[in-house]
Amino acid sequence: MSFTLIEERSVPEIDSLARLYRHDATGARFLSIINKDENKAFGISLRTPPSRSDGVAHILEHSVLCGSEKYPVKEPFVELMKGSLNTFLNALTYPDKTVYPVASTNTKDFYNLVDVYMDAVLRPRITEDTFRQEGWHYEVDPETGALSYKGVVFNEMKGAYSDPDDLHDDLCRRSLFPDTAYGLDSGGDPTVIPRLDYATFKAFHEKYYHPSNSFIYYYGDDEPEKRLAFLDAWLAPYSRIEVASLPGLQAPFAAPISLTRTYEGTEPKAWTALNWALVEHGDQKTSLGLSILAHILTATPASPLRKALIDSGLGEDLAGFGLEDSLRRGAWSVGLKGVRPEEVAKVESLILAELSRLAEKGIDPDTVEASLNTVEFALREKNTGRFPRGLAVMLEALNEWLYDENPIEALSFGASLEAIKKDVAAGERYFEALIRAWFLDNPHRSTVTILPDPEEGKRRQAAEKAELDAARAGMSEAEFEDIKAAARRLHDLQEAPDSPEALASIPSLSLSDLPKEPARIPSEKGEIASSTLLFHDLPTSSILYLDLAFPLDGLRDDLVPYIGLLGRALLEMGTDALDYVTMSQEIGKHTGGIGATAVLTTKWRRKDAAAFFVVRGKALREKTPKLFELLESVLLGAKLDNKERFKQIVLEEKAQSEASLIPSGHRLVGLRLLSHLTAADSLSERINGIDQLFFLRRLAGRIDSDWEGVLADLRAAKGAVVGAAGMIVNATMEREEFEGLKPALEGFVAALRQGSAAEKAQNAEAAEGAKAPGEAAPNAAAAQNAAAAQNAARSMALVGAARGGLLVPPALELFAAPSQVNFVGKAYPMAAAGAAPSGAFLVAKKYLDTTFLWEKVRVQGGAYGGFSMYDLNSGIFVFLSYRDPNLEKTLDIFANASTYLAALDIPKEELTRAIIGTIGGVDSYLLPDAKGFTSLVHYMTGYTYEDRQAMRDQILAASPEDFKALATSLSAAQPLSIAGALGSKQRFESLPKALIENAKILTLM
Ligand SMILES: [Zn+2]
Repeated sequence: MSFTLIEERSVPEIDSLARLYRHDATGARFLSIINKDENKAFGISLRTPPSRSDGVAHILEHSVLCGSEKYPVKEPFVELMKGSLNTFLNALTYPDKTVYPVASTNTKDFYNLVDVYMDAVLRPRITEDTFRQEGWHYEVDPETGALSYKGVVFNEMKGAYSDPDDLHDDLCRRSLFPDTAYGLDSGGDPTVIPRLDYATFKAFHEKYYHPSNSFIYYYGDDEPEKRLAFLDAWLAPYSRIEVASLPGLQAPFAAPISLTRTYEGTEPKAWTALNWALVEHGDQKTSLGLSILAHILTATPASPLRKALIDSGLGEDLAGFGLEDSLRRGAWSVGLKGVRPEEVAKVESLILAELSRLAEKGIDPDTVEASLNTVEFALREKNTGRFPRGLAVMLEALNEWLYDENPIEALSFGASLEAIKKDVAAGERYFEALIRAWFLDNPHRSTVTILPDPEEGKRRQAAEKAELDAARAGMSEAEFEDIKAAARRLHDLQEAPDSPEALASIPSLSLSDLPKEPARIPSEKGEIASSTLLFHDLPTSSILYLDLAFPLDGLRDDLVPYIGLLGRALLEMGTDALDYVTMSQEIGKHTGGIGATAVLTTKWRRKDAAAFFVVRGKALREKTPKLFELLESVLLGAKLDNKERFKQIVLEEKAQSEASLIPSGHRLVGLRLLSHLTAADSLSERINGIDQLFFLRRLAGRIDSDWEGVLADLRAAKGAVVGAAGMIVNATMEREEFEGLKPALEGFVAALRQGSAAEKAQNAEAAEGAKAPGEAAPNAAAAQNAAAAQNAARSMALVGAARGGLLVPPALELFAAPSQVNFVGKAYPMAAAGAAPSGAFLVAKKYLDTTFLWEKVRVQGGAYGGFSMYDLNSGIFVFLSYRDPNLEKTLDIFANASTYLAALDIPKEELTRAIIGTIGGVDSYLLPDAKGFTSLVHYMTGYTYEDRQAMRDQILAASPEDFKALATSLSAAQPLSIAGALGSKQRFESLPKALIENAKILTLM
């Protein structure tokens, strides 16, 4: 046996057996988690603390996935994306570690992924060209001869530095540990990245990418003994070396520090936060206690510190990174964004005063109980959504393991949680003591502020240009020619396809490994108190997941944008019986959470929208009566007339919407394009898109000038939604447990129907009454309603016309925001141009994403990414890029996709791979609650099991002809295609005249 077993322990918190090993020859650490989870996970992690902000660890993370000894293709990572059933495939750089995780439910696929990742990490074929492509290099403008910087990480980080939230969080974190690796930016500062040279880069790899510096992890239902044999074979060639990689500890601050920086912005808005260094790893009770305390202080509307900050009106929303526990010492950060620069100092005093008040007077016990319950519910439910549970467990283990503490201990939170609950129950002021020890009496604190500077962008560009000019001036002609030659060589390498032999080295499944039929989600349709009931018999560990879906059909058109706010208005403004703080405490104490969302999607094989407002709640079986009671009081008794509270919610939503502009520019551009083409997306744009942002800005002003009007709208929106006929009740739980709850559920649904009908009648009466006293106002309102109704009719007609090709939306819409990079999109309404929807197009799409778009937009274009979307329901094909230095060039690439597909002669193996990858996407792994919700959406859109089978058959039978058919359909839709981009005003000014002449420009910020 070449591994020594250090510890074996059952961990009931994650239903697993954990074994911790050390590899004898190399010292490699190995954590083996054995359980019944079919979503198997693997990761190899290395400690990689940087010594400069040149992005070396990050560029290396990208580069090792660019070909290895056993898999000598340009990008094995992309080949795996193309043709595997993975449920997760990525690599991540942290301030002190680099993590290579994969996951899959298919055992053969899982082994393949692990093999490719081990080879990539231990034996990559990194060349100087890899470094230049992924890191940075010079490009020469063929016309002017001017130099510019290019590189995938370079642009990725320019994007990150364009986002004030990202910039501020990063400065906050770094400010606490200035003398250690944590004081640097492991992602890379775009102004420092060009200082990195290849030799330094290579040396970094040699130092840290060794088994002796590795943390290897397996999780799931695969055979545990095989893991050992497999790893031993990989590690055998290595012997142990000493790697000094444990990140240093910052000397404690003697007194708090403060620092101020600038960001690119024109409005007088500052970000400011207080940050504290917390406990070092190894003290689980304190770490867990601090994370519960963070929840108590800021996570809910009842949280005292959040409430004090928001009520102060000093800013629009909370700022700061919150609780950070993936560093050697924990840290916590809280503040405000959207603060008037002259009021920044008030935020710090307010936070300290509120913390003192809480430490002295004590925290409301109901808030403590609510947070304890919420955190415990989340720890036990482990609902990681789309992110594999096994990888969430790995990251938790690494939080201790990376610092030479016990990873199994990190997963066994039960005892610490019980100890905390005991202290609280015994009346010890446990959390108050933590506030004193770690916040009030802790001088290791920083205050970090960023202020807007409209000149920042120009100054940065000028500095970059001066640097490039100086570099050019310092070059001899020979050196300049070398640079041109190197850029050409890189371009040629990027253009050269992998040889068939090299591609054959990438392990792949065959079509026969794929299930021929789509997985069935158990679903039964019935009735409950005259409403539709959908029930999904799935194991949920005694949790009831309940969705109440209200159709939006009867909603007045001018009220549509309120749907984006309705969930928070219902849940966070209190009810007739409870104020909003108490309501929030009740939800926290008794449930796993209540939230709301909107489902807006095109119906299957139809043009109209499935539009629903869905309230979602979850609770343990014994707490379900309380869940029903709370839902009823929120839906029937929500008090909407608290003007100040509603304004806070609107300002927070506005700030969040603004904050999402740059990180999710591609999402906004994509939605905006689609909104011109389908009814569902047109609604979604008004609820989730750029239109929503403009609505929120108008609304913030209107609350002050016309609160009565706003309140009437809110009430009307609530009445139309909650009172709508056709509510669907969607429940997910094990049958036996659910049967026991049914009578209570039935009573709840009946009460809800009755109550909303009564409320509707009352509303109608109130509206009648309002008409009586005067004439002018109600008439004006009536006229407005009539106009709105007409608007609704017109907008639907326009959407319909656009699909027939009669109406031409702007050919190019440009959205201006202070961003160093662009987000570019182009949409092709193929169905409108006569192409029948086909599942086979999804295969061509997958192939396009991982070949043409990856190479042209990312590898050669230097963008962080480019991809496409195809919606079978609407038959629309969309191309998008993100963090893209280019704009018009990218639009050309999108336009050329059809030419590429038409000329393509796809090898059979490549086609098979694309089919497997497509099925992998369709069969994505879902936790029980997500299965239940997905089934609900299928029901809403009329997407049957037979439809899914038909689509699957088309995918499995995809042929080269389908690729040609997609090319033809894209060409046919070209005259109807529309484009959009988010970027900076200066960048738009440099666009060719022909493009800008027909463009519509909208300034977002
Ligand atoms: Zn990256």
